[in-house]
Amino acid sequence: GAEMNEELYSTLKSKFGFNQFRHRQKQCILSTLMGHDTFVLMPTGAGKSLCYQLPAVILTGVTVVVSPLRSLIEDQKMKMKELGIGCEALTADLSTGAQEDIYTELCSENPSIKLLYVTPEKISASGRLNSVFYTLHRRGLLARFVIDEAHCVSQWGHDFRPDYTKLHTLREKFHTPPVPIIALTATATPKIVTDARDNLKMQNSKLFISSFVRDNLKYDLIPKAAKSLINVVEKMKQLYPGKSGIVYCLSRKECETVQMMLTKAGLSAEVYHAGLNDNLRVSVQKGWLANKFDVICATIAFGMGIDKPDVRFVIHYSLPKSIEGYYQETGRAGRDGMPSYCLMLYSYHDSIRLRRMIEEGNTTTGVRSMHLNNVLQVVAYCENVSVCRRKMLVEHFGEVYDEQSCRNSKTPCDVCERQRKNQEAIRLFDVT
Ligand code: ADP
Ligand code: MG
Ligand code: ZN
Repeated sequence: GAEMNEELYSTLKSKFGFNQFRHRQKQCILSTLMGHDTFVLMPTGAGKSLCYQLPAVILTGVTVVVSPLRSLIEDQKMKMKELGIGCEALTADLSTGAQEDIYTELCSENPSIKLLYVTPEKISASGRLNSVFYTLHRRGLLARFVIDEAHCVSQWGHDFRPDYTKLHTLREKFHTPPVPIIALTATATPKIVTDARDNLKMQNSKLFISSFVRDNLKYDLIPKAAKSLINVVEKMKQLYPGKSGIVYCLSRKECETVQMMLTKAGLSAEVYHAGLNDNLRVSVQKGWLANKFDVICATIAFGMGIDKPDVRFVIHYSLPKSIEGYYQETGRAGRDGMPSYCLMLYSYHDSIRLRRMIEEGNTTTGVRSMHLNNVLQVVAYCENVSVCRRKMLVEHFGEVYDEQSCRNSKTPCDVCERQRKNQEAIRLFDVT
């Protein structure tokens, strides 16, 4: 009751330094604290991590967090350590000795570890880890399981990870008493959500969804022409001096071409893609976080888990692979809530390029046709001239949206802005 409420707010303030809960954080936290299985859908940057980190701090015992990427895990671990919250990570690169130290701590009388991050592969592969889980469970110290980036369970998602589909064993192994599970994702297409809930055996979980509308993002689209990218970046530089943005490209080679093009025009740009070595990647990332250059030319390998609040623009130099991908990538703009610009440079030819890449990729027929279908949806989004872009984006996630809100907002999409102007022109001639 009231006591619990007070404890939530005091921990929020003292441990995390925040005054208010955002979105549906508090409801999610209460649900999982009451022992319900909980499924959380919130857009990227909304603050999903707090939904399990705060309960982990309040409760006795260890919270186990399954997360797909080492970089995401390292990032979270660093943040937790800064906040003085006991946190360790079991990833493939850890030495046997370092792993042993973690196991020993987990088996100690009163483990200082509140959050234990693991990759799904670790759970599938390590008998040792599972026996440590059993020991913790028997002693009443297994507080909860967290499945972060839960869309990785579904093969319809863009980040399918086979070992995620084995995670339902956590429910089967640790049932008396049951260990609550909380699953979180920013990917909310109804098909993927259903798939993930079925797969994790969480059909009875409480479902929390917060709106996917991003009021401060202006979505725009123009045809891709020779000088359009340079013109736009120059305009952004004037509009947001000292701030930076992302230009998404389709391939590593395209990143380099675009970088050269921008550099020639006197703009500063760096590339970022999966082909960079670790040192270079870290230094580009750092420079970007510190606004050391105007633009980062990146493939979609860039972005996941990187939390930069003041990205003022995201430009797609080539087509995104899906509507969902487009939403995620543009979602990296304006995390601080300030107006930000999302531009698609569209050419139909790019969709042919993208389709060729998919057709040449080696995968099953089913997955290939799913990817091709995703491209068709992106083309439909681009060719559209009459439906509000915000509406198209959020309705893709099953949300209902009234385009009047876009039309009346400070950052209407290009479609709504055009319609607003037309309306005003009509009014000028309206003599009655
Ligand atoms: P998500 O996982 O939903 O993409 P994160 O959990 O990484 O988002 O949180 C994004 C950012 O929001 C982080 O910098 C986090 O510290 C911040 N944040 C989370 N909750 C709050 C809050 N209640 N008040 C202010 N900032 C918050
Ligand atoms: Mg997250
Ligand atoms: Zn609109």
